[in-house]
Amino acid sequence: MKRFFVAFLTFLFALTSAKAQAVFQRSFVKMGSAFDLTLVAKNQTEADRLIEAAIAEIDRIERLISSWDQASETSLVNRMAGKQPVKVSKELYDLVFRAKAIAQMTEGAFDPTYASVDKIWTFDGSSVQQPKAEIISATVAKIGFEKLVFDPLESSLYLPLQGMKIGFGAIGKGYAADRVKSLLQKQGVTAGIVNASGDMSAWGSQPNGKTWQVGLVNPKNKEKVFAWFPISNQAVVTSGDYEKFLMIDNKRHGHIINPKTGYPSQGVISCTVFAPKAELADALSTALFVMGVETGIDFINQLNQVEAIMIDDDGKIFTSKNISIDETI
Ligand code: ADP
Ligand code: MG
Repeated sequence: MKRFFVAFLTFLFALTSAKAQAVFQRSFVKMGSAFDLTLVAKNQTEADRLIEAAIAEIDRIERLISSWDQASETSLVNRMAGKQPVKVSKELYDLVFRAKAIAQMTEGAFDPTYASVDKIWTFDGSSVQQPKAEIISATVAKIGFEKLVFDPLESSLYLPLQGMKIGFGAIGKGYAADRVKSLLQKQGVTAGIVNASGDMSAWGSQPNGKTWQVGLVNPKNKEKVFAWFPISNQAVVTSGDYEKFLMIDNKRHGHIINPKTGYPSQGVISCTVFAPKAELADALSTALFVMGVETGIDFINQLNQVEAIMIDDDGKIFTSKNISIDETI
């Protein structure tokens, strides 16, 4: 009888504690981007504590990977390009190592060393002259993930050419989303969604038992969602060209650069990638812009646990083999 009573009490407790979970949400700007954090917690006080911990983690990552912050390890590696290897934290070393692996897998469509070319283009939607061809080709000569020198014993990174640079514009927010998710999971948070400006990492489900739903924004009308997807324990990343682009000869050029040519990619206006990790999804969504629709979808179809939706200039939708939605937006 006593045993039954204890079991009953435990059951009651489980019921009330399950019930006591509610959804909390906060929006903030970090890494120059709008973040939206949604999580389940017992009360506002607990939610605030967790959200503060998440923000501190994003700040920490930003201090590590920012190319703007002169004090970051990344800036130091860049300053020492062509001079000497730089001993870095295991975290940065591993991040660059994984970035190189993704660069290999995408045959350089995504390339963390694209960054030397970043400064010669400005993407604010204004119509400007393109940089001189000589400048572009001289800069492209400094790009190439295969040139990166890793020393695992020293935990050092070396960029062998002067002016060579690494940058995490295409992977940093995804990485931050993954880290925040894992930090919150370690703190016992059973469900949530980290949304780093369209780079989303989710886990668990809503307190009412329903799956989280992610809406994909119509790149031609940002107020509208064109498709909803249920997600749990997964990342969804959307890279869009509707905010950062450049007009050259009345043609739209995206903020993603083809590392082989040094010219901005064309033809694709939005890419969404579903993958187990936001870091991978983020890098792949960038790579898809460079690959274009045909090669991009073909590439995604060869990967396990990865799906994609691409939208071209005409608003035509292309999907990988396990996704089906209407063909135009
Ligand atoms: P967003 O979510 O802001 O659209 P993306 O994930 O698409 O960002 O990454 C775009 C950013 O990645 C660019 O602003 C630039 O910093 C960087 N980048 C551009 N082209 C490449 C490339 N081919 N490989 C790696 N990084 C790139
Ligand atoms: Mg990306």
